[in-house]
Amino acid sequence: MRIKKAKALGFCFGVRRAIQVVERAAAEHGPIDSLGSVVHNPQVVDRLGAKSIQVVKGLEEARNGTIAITAHGAGPQVMEETAARGLRLVDATCPIVRKSQKVVQRLQEAGFQVIIYGDEAHPEVRGVLAWSDGSGLAMQDPEVPLDIRRHKVALLAQTTKSEQSFAAFVARFVGKHIGHINELRVINTTCPETDERYHAARELAAESDLLIVVGGRNSANTRKLAETCAASGVETHHIETAPEIDPAWLAGKKAVGVTAGASTPDESIDAVVQRLRELSNHHRPAPVEANATRTRNRRRYE
Ligand code: SF4
Repeated sequence: MRIKKAKALGFCFGVRRAIQVVERAAAEHGPIDSLGSVVHNPQVVDRLGAKSIQVVKGLEEARNGTIAITAHGAGPQVMEETAARGLRLVDATCPIVRKSQKVVQRLQEAGFQVIIYGDEAHPEVRGVLAWSDGSGLAMQDPEVPLDIRRHKVALLAQTTKSEQSFAAFVARFVGKHIGHINELRVINTTCPETDERYHAARELAAESDLLIVVGGRNSANTRKLAETCAASGVETHHIETAPEIDPAWLAGKKAVGVTAGASTPDESIDAVVQRLRELSNHHRPAPVEANATRTRNRRRYE
């Protein structure tokens, strides 16, 4: 059985950078409270917890004097409230997310109705919208009826959306709402790192008969990656850790592809590959000993 990893998989640069920023700050200032998980991966959250980086849901829960903003970023109100509470701020916002925030602020000030193609409940989208002074919207279905008050509209995407799906969203949005729009701006805020992972997963699917997607079940981009893999028609399993692999999945398989979301650490991927290797060796038919074969054959003809 051949085991192959996707060409692009696992931690993106924004997540690696965020982990380094909070680890460095914890080493320098002591215990830190992180506003939400630094990474949507329970194994990494546990590892950071052991280094005194705890997750809090809101600033009112902060107990350690230092608060970290994760790679998903946050709105200006959070920065202001952090200062008002006398807390030290460690900003690990991914530079690509920061770019979206600045674009939204600029467009809102220029009189555009900002619309983000994305999940309104996702922390990145909530944080980016917070820079629109309350006027921005998030949506996944471009054809839902909208009360567009401004005739200048700007369309952006959650960074983890694929370029393909954003293009389809824009086309359908324009088809539905063009009658209310005088000016339209489309800003491609999808993240190249995520798109690279989708592309590599499709490539891997073409040469595999089983796909294993590794990553947190609470990670939106890992779930999306698993959906992309499943859409290829190849049997796909989304797991968090190596022990979840069911040996029965491997029966009769010749090529297993492994990929992982942008929040999955290298150790989890390596552990999965290692377990697949062990199971593959275990399933290999035992070499037939020449003597034993001769004995069996002799018996058959006696
Ligand atoms: S997926 Fe892209 S935008 Fe999101 S944290 Fe990683 S590099 Fe930044």
